[in-house]
Amino acid sequence: MGAKNKHITRETQYEYVNWPPVYLVVALHLIGVVGFFHMFQCDWKTLLFNFIFLGYVQLGSMAGAHRLWSHRSYKASMPLQIFLAIAQTAGTQKSIYSWARDHRVHHKYVDTDADPYNAQRGFFFTHIAWIFVPRLPEVIEKGGKLDLSDLNSNPVVMFQKKYYNIGAPVLAFLLAPFITWYFFAESAMLSFTFGMFRHWLSVHFTFMVNSVAHIYGYRPYDSKISPTNNNIISFFTMGEGFHNYHHVFPQDYRASEYGLMFCFTTYFIKLMEKLGVAWDLRTVSKETVLARRKRTGDLKTSVVGFADPTNDEYKESEDENLPY
Ligand SMILES: [Zn+2]
Ligand SMILES: [Zn+2]
Repeated sequence: MGAKNKHITRETQYEYVNWPPVYLVVALHLIGVVGFFHMFQCDWKTLLFNFIFLGYVQLGSMAGAHRLWSHRSYKASMPLQIFLAIAQTAGTQKSIYSWARDHRVHHKYVDTDADPYNAQRGFFFTHIAWIFVPRLPEVIEKGGKLDLSDLNSNPVVMFQKKYYNIGAPVLAFLLAPFITWYFFAESAMLSFTFGMFRHWLSVHFTFMVNSVAHIYGYRPYDSKISPTNNNIISFFTMGEGFHNYHHVFPQDYRASEYGLMFCFTTYFIKLMEKLGVAWDLRTVSKETVLARRKRTGDLKTSVVGFADPTNDEYKESEDENLPY
């Protein structure tokens, strides 16, 4: 632990803001605002490409950094890991190694000062401000005790960590604009600004899991912790909004009890299994989930996040027609 961090507290944390990245992020957001207005002049191919690229980058965070590397909820072949690592790099949400380490501490010490994005600190802190301030000593101390041996011995994770500072800006800020400029004959200005708009959408969609899905929504599985089930977040994050379930059963590759229409990441992993490049997909038994829900959950809310006071038990019919 650095000597400086030892003296940082909740109260003094904002006195140590790292301003240069703040200025950079603000500037790139302003460029993204310009890109939003360019959206109306884009060729349809540019729109489609950026939409697909947005989904690809999201997969890097959700199927990669989150479900594969943070929680080991399934296993993946080397080509799939490389595919996801490239996507995660383009997301500029820190290296896989840092992402997974922060996330493991978040799960283990959720809602305490050892949680790097502690939702008890409010929306702004947990959404983005935590990135720009030094960590509290509690986060460093507890994080240092985690077992990260699987990450340390993973060649894809360690290679990406080594070259992240070069790879991230190239993949995030140059690759997609270059493609739309070169192949779709867009102007350089439109390609870059619209690429920034798409980039910030993906970043904030992910950040909303830490902020919105820890503040607004329902807690059907454990009413005592901040994570919520929130369908709006599931829609924007391809299925990460069943966050109350996920915090209770982080080992479940679905990050949800059900495979619902928003769970694109779950379908992607399932497809990868069918293609033979993912295996050992872990789930939790229906009985275990039901027992836990009855013991600690808020039974007045629906498991899919809608307010449904009548849904205090599972309906057998819901088990049918599930995609897995
Ligand atoms: Zn969380
Ligand atoms: Zn998680």
